[in-house]
Amino acid sequence: MSKSSDRLYLSPPSATEDDIAAVVESMRSGWLAPTGPDLAAFESDIANYLGASHAVGLASGTSAIHLALRYVGVGPGDSVIVPTMTFAATVFPIVYLGASPVFLDVDDSWNLDPNLLRQAITGIASSGSRVAAIIPVDLYGTPADYTSIRSAIDTLDVCLVEDAAEGLGGSGPDERKLGTFGEAGVLSFNGNKIITTAGGGMLVTDNSELAAKTRFWATQARERSPWYEHREVGHNYRLSNLLAALGRSQLRRIDGEVAKRRQIREWYRSRLSVVDGILVQNDPSWGRSNAWLSVVRFDPDRYHDAARCVRERLAASRIESRPVWKPMHRQPVFASARSFLSGAADALFRDGLCLPSGTSLDEEDVDRVCSLVLEALGV
Ligand SMILES: *Cc1c(COP(=O)(O)O)cnc(C)c1O
Repeated sequence: MSKSSDRLYLSPPSATEDDIAAVVESMRSGWLAPTGPDLAAFESDIANYLGASHAVGLASGTSAIHLALRYVGVGPGDSVIVPTMTFAATVFPIVYLGASPVFLDVDDSWNLDPNLLRQAITGIASSGSRVAAIIPVDLYGTPADYTSIRSAIDTLDVCLVEDAAEGLGGSGPDERKLGTFGEAGVLSFNGNKIITTAGGGMLVTDNSELAAKTRFWATQARERSPWYEHREVGHNYRLSNLLAALGRSQLRRIDGEVAKRRQIREWYRSRLSVVDGILVQNDPSWGRSNAWLSVVRFDPDRYHDAARCVRERLAASRIESRPVWKPMHRQPVFASARSFLSGAADALFRDGLCLPSGTSLDEEDVDRVCSLVLEALGV
């Protein structure tokens, strides 16, 4: 088959011979269990990589958010602030705990808009609800504006949980790694993320009590005792030792993965951002993205319905692209939730498109995608 007809996916996982060997070796070790030496080693590798004190391997990023919010004491009647432009997994755990999500619009970095924060917090307080936590998201790997977010909440007793599920390998102010900007940081190793364990996640924190509590709850809240003794409700949320072996192996090449994804985004930018009315998402002034996905935005005054036309043109050539996250305030399941909006997320949903971003792409593949994008726009 000629290269020019190869199917291209949005963000396929990569698995090397080293990854396969790591999994086989872990199986041979006899630790086919939700605990073991690979899990402990993966946790300490992640903590070292991020410069955090503790990391707890969990079944998913979603379960990490759930346990972080449980630790904070989020419950019925509470509000939790999240950006409307995110994946629903940021929001579901709020509902598991009986609290209410409140959606905020996004700034020019496509992340939680710090300018709307004070207004939202005042508005929520006047309705008699407590803002128990806020969960900024590092969308598509781009750091949220933590300096401004912190200064908006610094006099308030609000816990910050960072959803860095898409952001591993990116950094914020002072080159601090994403995942370390909250009381708890959340990572995901789902199949489409920058590194994968096929499914898994991690909670990262400097708070040793939070780390211990998370480990405890995630293993069915089993007390130290020869028999099964339970004083609290637990969850079966631990990452398995076998998957941790895969994660460890993947983590060894994270810097190369980030460099390649940033290179791919540069290739897109050099071909598309030079055209009037096309913008490829860039780093904000306060940090560095891992460029997990390359995302493009079309000027609606110049091109009509561009994101859909381009997506359909690419699909006809067996190239996968995807609309940006549909805003949470537009989701039927959250129809009754409160929101503070500027219109930015709605516009992004209309005009934005995620392009193939996997590390197996070469410059020729990106050229092919860009030619089709420009063809679809009639440029
Ligand atoms: C993937 C993702 C999650 C959830 O991670 P899982 O490991 O799939 O549970 C949470 N938030 C965001 C923004 C994500 O992209």
